[in-house]
Amino acid sequence: MKKTLFYSVFTFLFFTQITFSQVAEDTEIKKMITEIKAENLEATVRKLVSFGTRHTLSDTKSKTKGIGAAQQWVKSEFDKYALESNGRLTSVIDYFTVKADGKRINKDSQLGNVMATLKGTDPNDNRVLIISGHLDSRVSDVMNIKSDAPGANDDASGVAAVMELAKVMSKRSFPATIIFVAVVGEEQGLVGARHLAETAKESNWNIMAMLNNDMIGNSLSSGTKLRDNTQIRVFSETIPFLETEEEAKMRKATSRDNDSPSRLLARYIKTVTEQYVDQLTVKLVYRNDRFLRGGDHTPFSQNGFTAVRFCEMNENFDHQHQDLRTENGIKYGDLVEFMDFDYLRKNTCSNLATLANLAWSPKAPTNAGIEVKNLSNSSTFSWNAPEGKTPYGYQILMRETSSSHWEKTFFVKDTKAEIPYSKDNYFFAVQAVDELGHASLPVFPVPIR
Ligand SMILES: [Zn+2]
Repeated sequence: MKKTLFYSVFTFLFFTQITFSQVAEDTEIKKMITEIKAENLEATVRKLVSFGTRHTLSDTKSKTKGIGAAQQWVKSEFDKYALESNGRLTSVIDYFTVKADGKRINKDSQLGNVMATLKGTDPNDNRVLIISGHLDSRVSDVMNIKSDAPGANDDASGVAAVMELAKVMSKRSFPATIIFVAVVGEEQGLVGARHLAETAKESNWNIMAMLNNDMIGNSLSSGTKLRDNTQIRVFSETIPFLETEEEAKMRKATSRDNDSPSRLLARYIKTVTEQYVDQLTVKLVYRNDRFLRGGDHTPFSQNGFTAVRFCEMNENFDHQHQDLRTENGIKYGDLVEFMDFDYLRKNTCSNLATLANLAWSPKAPTNAGIEVKNLSNSSTFSWNAPEGKTPYGYQILMRETSSSHWEKTFFVKDTKAEIPYSKDNYFFAVQAVDELGHASLPVFPVPIR
């Protein structure tokens, strides 16, 4: 029995030439996570609420009320963080004009996304990460620009996460560039995000991932009264919006119905969140967004970028898009008192683990393929090393075809590997990894004949 075991282990190692290593953990990421404070997030949300309304078409002249004052305040905060960034963090209000559309924009208006860019330190690395929340808020009538619209959760929570991450991450340097953005016009039809996505497309930005955070700070559902601050939903599109005929053919040939780039990103988020953030798991939702609702990741998906939405596990519809009032004993409105700031902290940390791992990761391998030349009960892969710094190694990720998440990881130093699991029975992906475990986004291998 012992002998058999010995031989099978020996054969296995010989056969695969694969070494298993401990999952590396980066102490700097752990340190950054301790720097994200619920009380800072709460202070930011309270400040954003203090502007009365942040409706996209509200006052732009006042210093204390309306969207203009909110934009100036967010920019001034970004500029404070910039002082500790060695000149790498710069901020701008990216103004643009939007035409009246007879629907949610009643007159030609100048809008502005507030952006802080943390420039990557490697001049040969043009990868960009974007994290967003939306600055604008609304009440019951989407055209009401006067009434108080606190928008504490929708979406001061997302903006607070973006700002907190800009503050903590700009004290570090990353080879890739990170853009922290508070967009406007979400409630008027994703106008600000669309402007940014189109700018990115026109300028050929190499966007690795776009993380939209919209409502990440409430933990109690309306109606069903469920409370859950241990899960965050990540929505990802099933079939890429711009999928070509050729890509559709390949998807069908490889049964790649559940491995779009956005879904591979969502799984990546799940892996790093559950590695770095205590008492938080990621619930992968296999759709682009919720029914009847949209989000700022969608214009990015529609322009061919890899984008996902973070959204709280339970939504409270008494507190979304509501005039402030009490009716039949129910208090309506998106108020600070309904927020769960420790939940917001954990969700911010999930974004942090994702951004930091990706921004420090080696570039992804290219031309990843899986051999399908012969009938065999193993799987043989090959790929090319990415440009730039040579990765420490590569990870082949494996899962059952019926599983939602990766179940097994094989570490290899080479750019090819054979593993004793049948290619017919699993899904795989390959990623490059450095010594500290920062992994690139996984690449789904194409068949090699
Ligand atoms: Zn929202």
